[in-house]
Formats: sequence, C-alpha cells, structure tokens
Amino acid sequence: MTQYRIHPLKVAQITAPLGVLAMLGDMQSYVVAPIFVFYLEGGNKKILVDAGVPGPGSDGLVHGFPIGSGGEAGIREALKTVGTMPEEIDILVLTHLHFDHCATAHLFKNARIIVQKREWETAFNPVPTARLVYEQSLFRALEQMDLVLVDGDREIADDVTTLLLPGHTQGMQGLAVNTARGTAVLAGDLAYCYYNLNPSLAELTDLAGNRITMTPRPDLPFAPPGIHIDLSQWYDSMWRTAAVASRRDLVIPGHEPALVGKIIG
Ligand SMILES: [Zn+2]
Repeated sequence: MTQYRIHPLKVAQITAPLGVLAMLGDMQSYVVAPIFVFYLEGGNKKILVDAGVPGPGSDGLVHGFPIGSGGEAGIREALKTVGTMPEEIDILVLTHLHFDHCATAHLFKNARIIVQKREWETAFNPVPTARLVYEQSLFRALEQMDLVLVDGDREIADDVTTLLLPGHTQGMQGLAVNTARGTAVLAGDLAYCYYNLNPSLAELTDLAGNRITMTPRPDLPFAPPGIHIDLSQWYDSMWRTAAVASRRDLVIPGHEPALVGKIIG
C-alpha cells in the first residue's frame, strides 16, 4: 500500500470578492487567496494535481481578477521546492478546466493528463455564468497531448482514485489519496476554503494577513461557494467527499490560505 504526502504548492495569488468564496457574500470586500497545485510524494510515479493560472497582463489582471505571479515562472518555482519540474511529471490530474487550474498544462510534455469526459465536453459550451472562468485557448492545447478522458471514478495510480464531484462544474473531479493518516480527498474547487466545509467559522485570515469576517451558518452542513452550476449536485458531492475522507480535516479545499506551507499525510 502506498502512502503519499500531499504538498500544496502556491503558484500564484488571486484577489477575489468574498462573494466568490461564499455564496451571497459581499462582492465589495476582497480576499487574497492562493492558487495551488498539489504534488503527491511517495509513489513510484510523480503525480501533480492541477496546472495553475496564466501570468497577468500589463494591467495585473487575468479574466478581471488581480493575479500575483503565475504563468510558467510560477509553476516552475513551485515545483522546484519539491525538486522537480513540469517535464518530469508522469501524471497530471486536472480537477477541472477553469483558467486557474489548467493554464500551464502544455508544459507537461511527458505526462499522461487526466480530465473527466464530462468536464471536457461542457468546458467548450459552459453555462453563461461560467463563461468568465473558462478559457478555451488554455485547454485546447491538451488536444495535442497525452490526454485521457475518464468517465467517473478510476484508480489512476496505486492508491490514488479520481472521484467525479459535480456541482462547482459539471465534470469536476477530486482525488482520493491514501496517506499515513488515512484517506485524504483533494476536493478541487468543490470547497474553496475551510469555511465552505465548516460554515460555523466566523473568520478567515487571507494571504495578505487580513482577517475577513465570515457569516457563521451553523444551520448549514456546508456553505457553497459563489461559483457553482448546480447546488443539489454540489451538496451530494460534499456529502460524498466527507464520506470518502477518513477524517474531516483530510478534506483539502482548493484555495485555503491556511494550507500554504503545509504538508498533508
Ligand atoms: Zn474553479
């Protein structure tokens, strides 16, 4: 049995309205959050989850969001901290095809790239509210690569299994990963931060050190992010994630500032 250590690696930072992190949250107050890729250490293959965001244009923006770092330099620097580089990765799993998760996939020339079939099909014609976060030119590059479209749950390496988790997008996938502490679930953007998993939290400290006041919702089992395509599916996927993970603290959100510098497992 393979036990992995999961390294959240910050490739960039994004400034987004609170209402993106938490549905019905304030759209005038802003949160500085990390954009991660996740490196899985411990198996006989080098596995990376997600591929970051484009570097910002001269206005500092990507799709209207202020972005710090990112691009090819951002991913190379991040992978250097775990002693590797894009060309050495064997398996690249893209949780979904939003612009902040797939931008440097073209650098992973020797990797098998795993995307859900449903994500691939819907990314070309997203629902109108999701057009802002899909950038066709980024994922079109995958057509020339070793792209594998999987349909649902699949063991893609020893003790690493994809989980189809729709709700944030129609074909988002998470990953169940065996660790020394039990099964961890990389939840992609199903949850952006711990607040989505635990709506009783009253505060979030962002990457800039700002303490953001959250509205505690102890009446809810989970609090949805502001970007989703189907809340009913989203709740089903959250329950599923909680059931697959050995412990709640082994559910790993996609953009949680507290995960910077941490290792899970
Ligand atoms: Zn997303």
